[in-house]
Formats: sequence, structure tokens, C-alpha cells
Amino acid sequence: MSDPASLLAWRDTLADLGVMGLVPPPFTEEELAALQAPVAPPEPRPAPLPERPALPSRPEPRVARPAEPARAPEPLRTPRPAPAAEPEAPKAFVPPTDPMGNPPAEALAAAGTLEALEACTRECMACPLGAGRLRYVFGEGDPGARMMFIGEGPGKDEDLQGRPFVGKAGELLDKMIASIGLRREQVYIANVVKCRPPDNRTPLPDEAARCLPILRRQIELIRPKVIVTLGATPLRELLGVSQGITRMRGQWQQLDQAGGIPVMPTFHPAYVLRQYTQDVRRAVYQDLLAAKAWLEKGEPG
Ligand code: URA
Repeated sequence: MSDPASLLAWRDTLADLGVMGLVPPPFTEEELAALQAPVAPPEPRPAPLPERPALPSRPEPRVARPAEPARAPEPLRTPRPAPAAEPEAPKAFVPPTDPMGNPPAEALAAAGTLEALEACTRECMACPLGAGRLRYVFGEGDPGARMMFIGEGPGKDEDLQGRPFVGKAGELLDKMIASIGLRREQVYIANVVKCRPPDNRTPLPDEAARCLPILRRQIELIRPKVIVTLGATPLRELLGVSQGITRMRGQWQQLDQAGGIPVMPTFHPAYVLRQYTQDVRRAVYQDLLAAKAWLEKGEPG
């Protein structure tokens, strides 16, 4: 019942029944007239525009976004407080690359001064003594000294100060040197080993052997006229004399370097301090006088 004629008939029926006032008319007169008007043919549609050639696709312009403020990276977890500084681990013993375990012989030979020699040997780790030292005790004195004193190795005081013979034995050595009219600065003082042996023990033959090239190079550079060895260790390690010092002291030896250097073995000042007898002191004094006489006259005193 959607055609206009049926609707009109339906309206008339309702009007006849007297219910028209109760039900709003479904259409106004104008709407009905519009509905009844003949239907106009559809207007022709405009012809479609010819297709435009596709434009080459352009990259979308990027809209520059304001840079985000740099954010600190989030910590993965709550940072722990830094651990307390560990005490410095003892230096490891690095096995030497040189077959003899010394700083390379070429490096020693190339060192033309005592300073250069010290510089190229002061980090030496050729034997286990290197790992235990506090300071390297190279030696000190006049680089052109005519008299050289050679001890055994640094003790506690020397290890702390990095200088030879500065403890009690050193005080006595200074007096021994003064007794023959010389001062410490006029001679050169060195040891067989440059690093302190643990508990002041005697250096082991292997430790002495590894350190000996440094002492020999020192002697070559200083070229002393006479050497005084103190105690049994330098006599044994430098001259290969294994008899005891009590027997050998006061007896001239010769070192096979620089055309032969006369060596006077005497007691070690630490021994003199322990055996502070007149005999021991007199023996040391005689040995020193003999060495001094060699300097002055070129012959044993
Ligand atoms: N004893 C040594 O033989 N040398 C030193 O330097 C000190 C003590």
C-alpha cells in the first residue's frame, strides 16, 4: 500500500470513520501533490573526465618532529655502591723472555750512562725478587769514582728508600769510608742484587746470576781503579771465589773486566756490627788502607 492512490483511499476511509483527528495525516497536501506528480526523467550525468596520468609518487614530506629531549638511559638495576678499593695485588712474576732471564744484554750494552742503565733495568722482573721489592736499589755515588764498594743486596731501609747502605750497616760503611779520608759522594756504592731478598736472606745463586750483568755494566761504565767487596756474597758471585770471607779478606783479587780491576775483599759492615771486636775492626781498616794505597801509588799498600 505504498502507491499514492491506495494511500488516499486509506485516508478517506479513516476520515469517514472519524478517526482522522486522532491520527496525524501521514502526508501534507504538498507532499501528496509532489508524490502524485509525474516522475521526471533523470538528468544526464556529466561525462567522466579523462583519466589523469599518474603522477610519479613522491616521498611523503617528512614533518620534522621536535627532537625529544635526550633521556638518560634507565639503569638496568639499582646501581650498587662502588666496592672499596682493593689493596694492590703483588706484582706477578713474569718469566723472562731472555734465556738467561736478564734484561736483554743488548739493552744493557746500549746503555751508555748509569742513568740510562738504571732506566732500562728498574722495572726488571727477571727473578722473583722483583715481585717483592718496594724500590729498586740501583746504586749511587760518583759516576767517575776511582773506588767502588760492592755489597750483597738491599735490606729493609734500602728497600724503603731506594738507596744502598742507608741503614745501620750503611752508617758504619760511611765511617769506614771516612777512616781513609774519603766521603761517600766520592765513591760509588752498589750491590750484587738490586732488589731486597725476603727476610734479608742471602740472594740465591740464580737471583745473583740474573742480576750480575747489571753490576758488570755498572763497573764497565764507572771503570773504578779499585773495588772493595763487602762480605762473602760479592766475592763469590762476582769473582767466583767460594772460600769464606774470614779466610779471603785482605787478599787481593782481580776482576776480569776493563783490563783487570784489583779487588780488595773485606768484612761486611753488618758483620762488623755483630762482631764489634778490635780484631775485626783492625782487619777492616787494614783492608781499606790497602785499597786506598792502590789508588794513590798504583800498588798494594
Ligand atoms: N747490606 C748490603 O749488602 N747492601 C745494602 O745496601 C745494605 C745492607
